[in-house]
Amino acid sequence: MPEPIAITPLEAKSPFELRVNLGRGVGEAEVRQALATGDMGFLHSFTTGATVDGPGVRVVAWTSGCMWRCQYCHNPDTWTMTNGMPVSIAHAADELGKYRHGLKVMAGGFTLSGGEPLMQHRFAVKLLAAARRMGIHTALDTNGFYGHHLSDAELELVDLVLLDIKAWDPLRHRALTGVDNAPTLEFARRLAAQRRPVWLRYVLVPGLTDDRDDIAKVAEFAAGLGNVERVDVLPFHQMGRFKWARLGMTYALEHTGPPDDQQVAGALAIFRERGLKAC
Ligand code: SF4
Repeated sequence: MPEPIAITPLEAKSPFELRVNLGRGVGEAEVRQALATGDMGFLHSFTTGATVDGPGVRVVAWTSGCMWRCQYCHNPDTWTMTNGMPVSIAHAADELGKYRHGLKVMAGGFTLSGGEPLMQHRFAVKLLAAARRMGIHTALDTNGFYGHHLSDAELELVDLVLLDIKAWDPLRHRALTGVDNAPTLEFARRLAAQRRPVWLRYVLVPGLTDDRDDIAKVAEFAAGLGNVERVDVLPFHQMGRFKWARLGMTYALEHTGPPDDQQVAGALAIFRERGLKAC
């Protein structure tokens, strides 16, 4: 599959750049082949300098394609796979390779995020393997829904899983994301059984994911796993609001503000009370 003439650079200043139709013209058969082989992936972008997506300074590859429909998603342009740029695995690995020395000096690493990176699990495995060959620390930021597509050996390519748990109550989760949370919880249990390090991520949205009992259930579950090294409580923000508007999509959280300091402290306390390190 030929790569398009690069009008849009692969590197972006941030994932909040709106990117659409970069994979237009890629036929359905080619998309299917890319998904089956992982020789080609669809990427929103690469960004550098992130300090919130794993330990140290990170290079992040943002994949396109997500099967969830989170009400608070701040990158809805990544839902559609062909909004991303078709990039060969060799090109993606070369891009990562540019930063290999700096990442080691800064004790950082590579994070594969999205969208949902496991929508392209063969490409994800190949890119994580390339990072591993370069001696770069690897993190996978995932909602876990497609975790079963990774074999145990493939999971070994991931030094750290950043696992998003959006809500505990199944009905609340379905209303929030459009899907069931059972596969995510199952993946969390599998990671625990294999003692794979996990940082749990919880997005705190006033009026949507701030129910104390629901957070407590997530915290109890996380504490019982035994492999959750840290919990990141991520305050909801509106940096992605313009994307919903530009894409002509109805945004249910148009008028929702970020949680205040007290709400964030309350959520952190719930996790900490159960012995978890929460930041
Ligand atoms: S899982 Fe992530 S990328 Fe997918 S809709 Fe939810 S917030 Fe957006």
